[in-house]
Amino acid sequence: MTGRPLTILLAIILAVLIVALVSHHRVIPVYPGEYPVIAPPMHCDIEYHDDRVELALREDPLLGRVIVYAHAEGGVYLGILKPVYDRRVVVRRGDYADFRAVIKGSSVEAAEFLKKMDRYEPKIDMFDSIVAAHDADRAFGVQKCLYPLCTRCVEACKSVIQGDNIPITLEVKPDGHIMPVFRRGKCPRCGRCFVNCPTGSILPPDKGRK
Ligand code: SF4
Ligand code: SF4
Repeated sequence: MTGRPLTILLAIILAVLIVALVSHHRVIPVYPGEYPVIAPPMHCDIEYHDDRVELALREDPLLGRVIVYAHAEGGVYLGILKPVYDRRVVVRRGDYADFRAVIKGSSVEAAEFLKKMDRYEPKIDMFDSIVAAHDADRAFGVQKCLYPLCTRCVEACKSVIQGDNIPITLEVKPDGHIMPVFRRGKCPRCGRCFVNCPTGSILPPDKGRK
């Protein structure tokens, strides 16, 4: 091979190596602030009636929708998406759970959607589930995080951090609700988790601290 083609070949190889190196070490944008802040859980007061439970929220939700949840036997977590009017949420007899998940300790092992296009399968009455949880001293209540109907924060974080060890996870707290948990780890403060959270469960530092 003469001098010029060899030079071109070497230049091409060098260019390929540089591209491979740059794409391996992706530049992750760094948010010009601090780390994300997890919003405190939502609390409510509950009234029981023969055909419904009414939950009076102690704060206005950002989205106007919340999850009402109840734990059932065998580590099963049931939830329904509900609208909020004047800080009140009503679960009536005949309102069926939208999803159920299996809980082990603080981990959500699996989530299954029960609401299909035209039916619920199986039909699990949320009113009965809340009353049963109350009677059996199991956890129930309201949460602002819409997991598993929403997983935006985790997906956004995965678009920045490679591998499974990402700083944001969704976990079950001791009082039974699911909420995001943040561990600094390799978080580059890109801000995508709180930018993508529709419910204000994850906040930017300036809004998360009062
Ligand atoms: S999306 Fe992930 S990497 Fe970005 S700020 Fe949130 S936790 Fe950190
Ligand atoms: S983006 Fe917000 S609402 Fe959705 S799963 Fe994450 S914390 Fe929950």
